[in-house]
Amino acid sequence: MPRRVVVIGLDCVAPTLAFDQLRAELPNLSALIARGCHGPLRSSVPPITVPAWTCMFSGHDAGELGLYGFRNRTGAGHELSIASSRDVHVTRTWERAGQAGKRVATLFVPLTYPPTPVNGCLISGLLTPTPERVHTHPAALGERLARTHGPYRMDVEGFRSEARLQTIEALGTMTRQHFAIARELYRAERPDLMTMVEIGPDRLHHVAWHALDRNHRRHDADGALAAAARGYYRMLDHELGALISLLDDDTVVIVVSDHGARPLCGGIAINEWLRARGDLVLSGPVDGPTPPAQMPVDWSRTRAWAEGGYYARIFLNVAGREPEGIIPAHAREQVRDELLAALHELPGPEGEPLEHRLVVPEQAFRATRGRPPDIMAFLGDLDYRAIGSVGLDAIHLPDNDTGPDACNHDWDGIFVMAGPDLPARGAVSGYTLYDVNRTVLGLMDIPCPDDLLGVDRSRHP
Ligand SMILES: [Zn+2]
Repeated sequence: MPRRVVVIGLDCVAPTLAFDQLRAELPNLSALIARGCHGPLRSSVPPITVPAWTCMFSGHDAGELGLYGFRNRTGAGHELSIASSRDVHVTRTWERAGQAGKRVATLFVPLTYPPTPVNGCLISGLLTPTPERVHTHPAALGERLARTHGPYRMDVEGFRSEARLQTIEALGTMTRQHFAIARELYRAERPDLMTMVEIGPDRLHHVAWHALDRNHRRHDADGALAAAARGYYRMLDHELGALISLLDDDTVVIVVSDHGARPLCGGIAINEWLRARGDLVLSGPVDGPTPPAQMPVDWSRTRAWAEGGYYARIFLNVAGREPEGIIPAHAREQVRDELLAALHELPGPEGEPLEHRLVVPEQAFRATRGRPPDIMAFLGDLDYRAIGSVGLDAIHLPDNDTGPDACNHDWDGIFVMAGPDLPARGAVSGYTLYDVNRTVLGLMDIPCPDDLLGVDRSRHP
């Protein structure tokens, strides 16, 4: 019997918090866990909001999507541009459901701006530029919702700042607005498939992970920040419970996150490291910290450069591929392998060895659309952020270069599923975010193409 499904995405929620450290403070999530199954959910490579949610809701890896981060190289030059729904060339779960005649509500999912037509309603999520732009389908829905709920809050501004308590207050206002809209639309539309993503927990973790996670070296459980952060989680759980209380008995609830979080140990200035090796050559001095887009690169002598972020994207300056490439195409793999060997030896701040996770896109992905990096370097396997700027006079830095940051992303998010005629299976393991698309479609008796990644966890627990 086809069931109705509600997927509630909680961006960045980590198993260590949801299943352990905060579990007693989250009665509604705990009730779902008790009557269903729960376990870690392996994220995509890379474990970044964009592309992770799109991997989850399509069954395609980041290479197939051509989405390697929030920004990607879409033009002929070196620059990166911010991703949008125009860069998504695959069918997402709610589109398959709509094609099968199901009514859908798709709310706040990253990479849905500009909005596209669906068989139901859609509100664009993260990367919606302003609430004044049309961000809904149907187009008039946004204005109607704003009359009741105020201007749409798609994100909080400047969360990497010292104003942590104010940010958490703004997060609470945003999250309550999202759930109020979700409840209103659920009551009005009774969709067969509702898919919503709440970005709030991700922002909270970047602000206050050290106040939440016992394993953080600067953990402080007693201050005002910890009280505010735990208060946010209790509010989030309350909102979750209020939404679940509206659902019919035939509805399956799936709570997922796109990746987890872990303490950030510091930053490694990847372009400074490439400069020290002579792989990256500047044509003149830089005056203070300078991001990659402003680096005066001498391309005639540069073999490699990188973009920073949660991980380092290293590009080789290959002739015929890059605007001013110098590495002959036939030598690309040799240069790449030399660089991989050197990266393995890149030590931590005290000279200690680090276990980096180094990924070669054409070996890791089923395809590489767009312009992938030559090497994806997860420094200290995500203990360290990759700092893209030069002019820092150091390779190891205590903090991030784009503002204070309490956490890095981690490889495992969460999966919780409960519903009618699904047995209480307790703890499960080995699930990946690619399983979500196939599981949702399976629950709704909608066929899913064989060549997509993932396993239907309602039939193959
Ligand atoms: Zn995320």
